[in-house]
Amino acid sequence: MPPFPNTGRSQRVFSATRAAPGVAGLLAGACIAAYFLYPDQSRSAPTSQDAPLSPTHFTPATLVSSETCNHDTKLMKLNIPRHLIPADGSLHGCRPIWSIFVKDDDIQVERPYTPLEGIDEEGNMLLWVKAYPKGEVGRWLHSKRPNEQIEIRGPLKTWLWNEHEWDEVVMISGGTGITPFYQLFHSVIRPAYPTSKTRFTLLHSSRTSSDLPPPVMMHQLTDYAEKHSDRFRLGLFVDSNDGSAAVASRNTFSEGRINLEAVRKYIESDTPQTWWNRAFGSSKPAVSPQRRILFLVCGPEPMISAIAGPYGRNFSQGPVGGILAELGCTSAQVRKL
Ligand SMILES: Cc1cc2nc3c(=O)[nH]c(=O)nc-3n(C[C@H](O)[C@H](O)[C@H](O)COP(=O)(O)OP(=O)(O)OC[C@H]3O[C@@H](n4cnc5c(N)ncnc54)[C@H](O)[C@@H]3O)c2cc1C
Repeated sequence: MPPFPNTGRSQRVFSATRAAPGVAGLLAGACIAAYFLYPDQSRSAPTSQDAPLSPTHFTPATLVSSETCNHDTKLMKLNIPRHLIPADGSLHGCRPIWSIFVKDDDIQVERPYTPLEGIDEEGNMLLWVKAYPKGEVGRWLHSKRPNEQIEIRGPLKTWLWNEHEWDEVVMISGGTGITPFYQLFHSVIRPAYPTSKTRFTLLHSSRTSSDLPPPVMMHQLTDYAEKHSDRFRLGLFVDSNDGSAAVASRNTFSEGRINLEAVRKYIESDTPQTWWNRAFGSSKPAVSPQRRILFLVCGPEPMISAIAGPYGRNFSQGPVGGILAELGCTSAQVRKL
């Protein structure tokens, strides 16, 4: 197994909330049953108490704290002993974005979760975990209490950041789909200032304002966006405002979904918006193929589809569709996480 494997079949899990009626439901049930019953080498990886954290085996971590954020999410801090932090550089200095697999001991399934701030020198990892009403691992994790053991393995590559590759990076997320972007923010965007020339934009949506990420994340993002607007722009969207968005400043906060106009507003168009273009449209794309701009999209599957088009077969990227296709983006400019 490579030292930094991809999360493979779990790529769609941010998005597994669709109802599955009729035949589709039976098929989905059969697939889920097969998933649980089929012997899987990675899930049956051994557990090691004394070998450093690695994708090849599970490492027992201790749950340090578990803090309720809203009705379905918790901030959970895991710790591994210092001597189990890999010394070979696979964690420290590894380029984001990476995740860890968490194993649900009751039913022997694993799911990937993204350490928000990577791992610190004490071996702490902070996760923002959503529990779906009928989901397995999220609910199991939420039931865990401080000092209990949780088995993890990793790091697992989600996406590699390469400095100097892009002039602009636009991250679009929904719900806990923000976690990989928060890791990028924490480990690349904030520390690299002012040496990096890349400009970043994060457009994030939640159902209501109380579903927005917890204050510990929001404060970091809004503060940084206010102080370094040349480097990082933040747009927050909620389907409906339940009045609890105290941390969001007015100019970053909108009610409604991330739609074409919202994305267009945050990217300077290659085609200037003259009155003629506004009235009759322009034949030129808003984003030209030569532009060194990358759109990263992560969130529930219906959102991914609306923004960037659906995934292809077998977890492939599929063609660019949705809003990003309307803007003229090529597949090289779009990455669905
Ligand atoms: C790289 C990566 C990083 C991730 N990081 C995070 C993170 O930081 N935080 C986070 O919260 N999530 C993260 N995820 C998503 C996470 O891995 C899980 O997929 C998610 O928590 C759901 O897993 P679960 O076991 O709780 O739910 P699952 O059991 O996978 O269920 C998910 C959904 O499917 C439905 N479902 C379950 N069983 C059935 C059934 N029999 N019939 C029909 N529907 C059913 C459930 O109602 C639920 O809505 C990440 C995913 C990836 C790929």
